[in-house]
Amino acid sequence: MSDASTFLGLPAFPSAARDAVGNAQLRHNLRKATHTIRAKRAAVVDELDDWPQLREAGKAIKDHTLRNLDRYLLQVEEAVTAAGGHVHWAADAAEANRIVTDLVRATGERDVVKVKSMATQEIGLNEALEEAGIRAYETDLAELIVQLGDDRPSHILVPAIHRNRSEIREIFLREMAAWGEPAPADLADEPRALAEAARRHLRERFLTAKVAVSGANFMVAETGTLVVVESEGNGRMCLTLPDTLISVVGIEKVVPTWQDLEVFLQLLPRSSTGERMNPYTSTWTGVTPGDGPQNFHLVLLDNGRTGVLADEVGRQTLRCIRCSACLNVCPVYERAGGHAYGSVYPGPIGAILTPQLRGTANALDASLPYASTLCGACYDVCPVAIDIPEVLVHLREQVAEGGGHRAEKAAMKAAGWIFADPVRLARVQRVAGRTRRLVPLRRLPGPGAAWTDTRDLPAPPAQSFRDWWAAERRNGTPGSRA
Ligand code: SF4
Repeated sequence: MSDASTFLGLPAFPSAARDAVGNAQLRHNLRKATHTIRAKRAAVVDELDDWPQLREAGKAIKDHTLRNLDRYLLQVEEAVTAAGGHVHWAADAAEANRIVTDLVRATGERDVVKVKSMATQEIGLNEALEEAGIRAYETDLAELIVQLGDDRPSHILVPAIHRNRSEIREIFLREMAAWGEPAPADLADEPRALAEAARRHLRERFLTAKVAVSGANFMVAETGTLVVVESEGNGRMCLTLPDTLISVVGIEKVVPTWQDLEVFLQLLPRSSTGERMNPYTSTWTGVTPGDGPQNFHLVLLDNGRTGVLADEVGRQTLRCIRCSACLNVCPVYERAGGHAYGSVYPGPIGAILTPQLRGTANALDASLPYASTLCGACYDVCPVAIDIPEVLVHLREQVAEGGGHRAEKAAMKAAGWIFADPVRLARVQRVAGRTRRLVPLRRLPGPGAAWTDTRDLPAPPAQSFRDWWAAERRNGTPGSRA
């Protein structure tokens, strides 16, 4: 597989991971953070005797919803519209960005505040708004760090997991003034001081913003209610203070009823932050006169999801509730970090979701299904029982069949031709033995070179078994009577 740059300008996973593995500071940050969250998750999951049943219920609800997705999405549309909201359907990222940009332009505003949202990162909304002269301000603390640092997120739950405290302090001191309230000159790298600087910086935004953009963790079809769960409360400020709220939500986020939501509100916080429940759960249904945003727009995003739904093995990926538990237990993610995956979805879920949403036409996306040891730890912790190894193997098959392994395919074809005829095989073995003695290879040429970088190529014996057998028979030795 080529390591050539992709359309994203990023190298394929093996190259990107090699750089990350060489960064000792990054490895230290990742190990510390993932092991801490992993231990917290294990402790709160162990508290529940019925965790396997909850997990099974989450899986069953998602599977049922996905089988009837058309019906439930229409139910969402009807309920949101009846509650005074507006529903827009976006087939892809370009359409979703155009809808949101037009909606913001219609308000006459040039600034929007944002609630942490994977869907808007997936479609590159901030960049699209910037092109239209609209500035998007991230309000989640970790997203703020990423935005101020002109960086990319590397974890679903903790996007700045690759940064330590002193790096964050440097970013705040250097960049905050250009975006609003500056950081105090004597800022310490203590968590409390950093959080206070972010709070002061963001407060001005919350109080002046007229438009907010969010995603949603869930949409309840029976009432058209959207749900955001979070830890900081910044999301709730965005969801309640501005006049206009625009929510961009993947079509797989729907659950049929509030009773179904109850299952996920137990599964998600324990799996993501290792908490029994998350500190803030915000819900809203259309608009309520005199209370919260008076204009509400829901953008339902496909962007490849219906293609995933059509794949019998791959569709289980759409059960994902973005808890990030699979990242925190993955030995590959722990060493390679999130940037190596070249997508807003890193780790095991990224390795199966990104190639299904974007296809495997470029080197980066085709390399992602191989970014795994297939150890199965991700499946064990997944709260909706997505069999990630099964999907990885399925995607590897697609990459191989799509011509992703031309050298291996050619080698297998040649081997098949040789092994099909005993006489031909004998001749090839004889030639290989003689050639080997003339040109003693330790390393394969061409595409096979990578295989022999870490292995010695065994030397063919001076005499093949066939030749030895024939000689034994000719000499009338005991071997000829065997
Ligand atoms: S695949 Fe499972 S474990 Fe990973 S983020 Fe999604 S729900 Fe969580």
